[in-house]
Amino acid sequence: MLLNKVLRAGVQAGLRFQSTSAQPGVRVAAATSTSAHGGFCFELTDQQKEFQVLARKFAREEIIPAAPGYDKSGEYPVPLIKKAWELGLMNGHIPEDCGGMGLGIFEACLITEELAYGCTGVQTAIEANSLGQMPVIIAGNDAQKKKYLGRLTEEPLMCAYCVTEPGAGSDVAGVKTQAVKKGDDYVINGQKMWITNGGKANWYFLLARTNSDPKCPASKAFTGFIVDADTPGVQPGRKEMNMGQRCSDTRGITFEDVVVPKENVLIGEGAGFKIAMGAFDKTRPPVAAGATGLAQRALDEATKYALERKTFGKLIAEHQAVSFILAEMAMKVELARMAYQRSAWEVDLGRRNTYYASIAKAFAGDIANQCAADAVQIFGGNGFNSEYPVEKLMRDAKIYQIYEGTAQIQRLIISREHFDRFKQ
Ligand SMILES: Cc1cc2nc3c(=O)[nH]c(=O)nc-3n(C[C@H](O)[C@H](O)[C@H](O)COP(=O)(O)OP(=O)(O)OC[C@H]3O[C@@H](n4cnc5c(N)ncnc54)[C@H](O)[C@@H]3O)c2cc1C
Repeated sequence: MLLNKVLRAGVQAGLRFQSTSAQPGVRVAAATSTSAHGGFCFELTDQQKEFQVLARKFAREEIIPAAPGYDKSGEYPVPLIKKAWELGLMNGHIPEDCGGMGLGIFEACLITEELAYGCTGVQTAIEANSLGQMPVIIAGNDAQKKKYLGRLTEEPLMCAYCVTEPGAGSDVAGVKTQAVKKGDDYVINGQKMWITNGGKANWYFLLARTNSDPKCPASKAFTGFIVDADTPGVQPGRKEMNMGQRCSDTRGITFEDVVVPKENVLIGEGAGFKIAMGAFDKTRPPVAAGATGLAQRALDEATKYALERKTFGKLIAEHQAVSFILAEMAMKVELARMAYQRSAWEVDLGRRNTYYASIAKAFAGDIANQCAADAVQIFGGNGFNSEYPVEKLMRDAKIYQIYEGTAQIQRLIISREHFDRFKQ
């Protein structure tokens, strides 16, 4: 807790330049010693480096040793989450007037990449908090922000983003959960599915249909609510046993006659679809950063192994076929990192980053899968075995092509954005 406060104070001091800058390049350049780069600079600020080092140390010393156990048991990693909270490695972008650090998405991404290097199950549990918070950050009024975001800075509590349903994932406009206004309240009925932190959250962001006319456009038919998890009628289902990221808590949740006061509506009736989709511009860059962290881990594990394992009298790294696989992996990791950093940088400058966020998410999700599979290949038979670290990476990687918009949906968005840009 003390460390959290100390770090917070340091971060607040160090990030002053962020709020005074509205120009591309200035934020990064102003805080570096090598500033004269014509507005473009790859150097991290000292503050950003501090976050990266702290997250890296935590991942290597605390997450990596515990990760195989959590993968086997599927247990929720409470001690790691508490420690991450104490260190200031989660909820970073909660605004300062709500007790948070007010970090940019760029800084959040740097932390996320490091945590993911340790274990993406742990990282997803932590990242789902950002996803749950983001609609409140972008659309909440002062009272909602202070109450619900403030709560997360006072205690290591979780929240969740409740949009997907058994019949509606990619097609969000197909959401069937209904909210009906009764006096000063709304009564919510429906079924959500695949909700990360579903059984652990203190509150949910929930998307429900408030206009029953099937002809009403999605942009007006849905409303976003904040729902306290202990409200009568909220019934989380069993923990789902997933292929990877097994310590992350994924559940279906039934909402049966759940009464939510109108004070918990975000913006107003009909604004929900835009809020739910708008959150992704700020959460996809960190998801891409997580995928990059996994890919970097795959590259490091494969490199280490290739420099130890011998066949035909020499290290397998000395076979050109193997070294070229490693070279391809390195190229992909570097480009995925640049893609997530660009998308985070854009949105931190207040610019619409939908195009870059989808490129980063799609690319990093794909290369995480390719790098994990390549690492398994380099490990040979050992790669297929759970005593070695890379089979877990391969199982963990798959979800990056599915959640927060599948690989296909990202391409749909990128192509739409591309045509719009082309026509301008
Ligand atoms: C572990 C896990 C955690 C999750 N966490 C959350 C969470 O916290 N909150 C939340 O709300 N949701 C969450 N989700 C849900 C996730 O976002 C959805 O699973 C995802 O969006 C895909 O939806 P779907 O499963 O319904 O697949 P579908 O939409 O049915 O898609 C099936 C296939 O069809 C493809 N497809 C669909 N439509 C098109 C199209 N128009 N063009 C081309 N291809 C198409 C898809 O790409 C996919 O390959 C989570 C899911 C998982 C598995």
